[in-house]
Amino acid sequence: MGTLYICPTPIGNLEDITLRVIRIFQEVDLIAAEDTRHTIKILNHLKIEKPLLSYHEHNKFKVEQTLISKLKNGKNIALVSDAGMPGISDPGEELIKRCIEENIETYCLPGPSALINAVVLSGLSTRRFSFEGFLGKSKKERVSRLEKIKYDDRTLIFYEAPHRLKNTLKDIYAVFGDRKCSAARELTKKFEEYNRMNLSDMIEYYKENNPRGEFVLVVEGALNEEKNEIEFTVSIKDQLNELIR
Ligand code: SAM
Repeated sequence: MGTLYICPTPIGNLEDITLRVIRIFQEVDLIAAEDTRHTIKILNHLKIEKPLLSYHEHNKFKVEQTLISKLKNGKNIALVSDAGMPGISDPGEELIKRCIEENIETYCLPGPSALINAVVLSGLSTRRFSFEGFLGKSKKERVSRLEKIKYDDRTLIFYEAPHRLKNTLKDIYAVFGDRKCSAARELTKKFEEYNRMNLSDMIEYYKENNPRGEFVLVVEGALNEEKNEIEFTVSIKDQLNELIR
């Protein structure tokens, strides 16, 4: 039986690849990559030649079977996405689950993931946080998810594409109110920037400054007053149910 190695890659700065990931790239039989054209650039930079197999959102179920068969036949495989940790808003989740079910030895190597940098330098509480990933393409999807989490008192982390950033900020403000927020842009890259302000000010800021590059939004969790509001509502509901019974 072979081994699957989940290998995080840089989210911008090529120096952020670990010695262990480089060694695993050298040792494995095959690298399963989200975009082989992207991964080949990293491999060329590292002067490593390896067979690559494309494993992405649209072929993952078909390729999963090939990868599982290869692992069962003793091949060692590295799994990489375009940037950061595979399986975090990137392909990998299903393959990893399957390896666990099939008792295939699997290791996750530590390394870059945009959410960690964004929350650590957000200026918001890092004691407890919740990763929400992408909220969704449509307003309906975003608002419906935000309604479900509006009373969560943990710091909340969202990934967002630049062309949706303004609308997403408006939706978060409409559902959560004027909480503190940090927009982490182009992490580890030349134009890395942290923009920390209230949601209402951030909406105004991005009216003047068109969002460019990659973003992580980190939003303050629900404050005590908001939690009290839900506890009060729940208690009224309980009392009403009691009366009906
Ligand atoms: N697997 C990746 C990880 O571990 O962070 C995430 C991949 S997801 C497809 C891409 C999203 O991650 C971007 O839209 C952005 O929200 C965030 N992201 C990735 N790299 C980033 C960077 N250098 N700066 C800011 N956000 C980044």
